[in-house]
Amino acid sequence: MLSFNSNARNAGGILALVGSLTIGAGCVPAISTQQEVQLGDQYAAELNRELPLVRDQAIVNYINSLGNQIAQRADPRGLRYHFYVVNAPEVNAFAVPGGHVYVNRGLIERATNMSELAGVLAHEIGHVVHRHSVEQIQRAQTANTGLAVVYGVLLGRSPSGIEQIGTQVIGSAVFAGYSRDAEREADETAIRFLVASGINPEGLVTMFEKLLAERQRNPGGVAEWFSTHPTTEERIETTRQEIARLPAGSLQNLNTNSQAYADFRSRVNGLPASASR
Ligand SMILES: [Zn+2]
Repeated sequence: MLSFNSNARNAGGILALVGSLTIGAGCVPAISTQQEVQLGDQYAAELNRELPLVRDQAIVNYINSLGNQIAQRADPRGLRYHFYVVNAPEVNAFAVPGGHVYVNRGLIERATNMSELAGVLAHEIGHVVHRHSVEQIQRAQTANTGLAVVYGVLLGRSPSGIEQIGTQVIGSAVFAGYSRDAEREADETAIRFLVASGINPEGLVTMFEKLLAERQRNPGGVAEWFSTHPTTEERIETTRQEIARLPAGSLQNLNTNSQAYADFRSRVNGLPASASR
């Protein structure tokens, strides 16, 4: 588990604090895309100060090129996506609203071909496209009117200092984990996004199978992505069935691997471990 998950652990306290700062309950408008991007950018800037991000330009360029190849076809809102490699050995990936997607080096080391990493990216892009974290924030808002403060931040009406709390509320939504339905939706749409991007969707299945096998050998080793992604034989089977339902011929001429991916992965494998975490 990475240190930034303290955001999630502190969620209860933060919500209580936000609640105490609330001025009035009132009716709160839905979060617009523009507001989602504003909040997401703010939260990502905070994460980027905390996480051991890989700065190597060739690595940064490759993951952004692969990720945007998918995101451009996946997200009809035309958001500008940002992809980051985190120098951490755990298998993990997550998405922040507004289009910030983070992948740990531990996951890239296990993704032996391009389509496996692309499968994970497409799944995380699916969470952004379907606004799963944003929906969680909106649902929490109805349960706790204190979250109206978040909207105050979004609308630029909050006093400075409350901003910090607003981004921590986003953090608690991002790291709380998604519902089973949200995971299923992200898997289903990932398959479509991959095919539309010319990438073999079987990579999502083989990645799941690989992580499942590793978990059986070493339960602690791949814990993080599994804790929010309840990968089971059933889920693998569902993904396989989705792929089998695709129109005949749509799986032809799709890419599974590339030299550029092999170069990227060996560069990631060659990175020194992060010193600080
Ligand atoms: Zn997921």
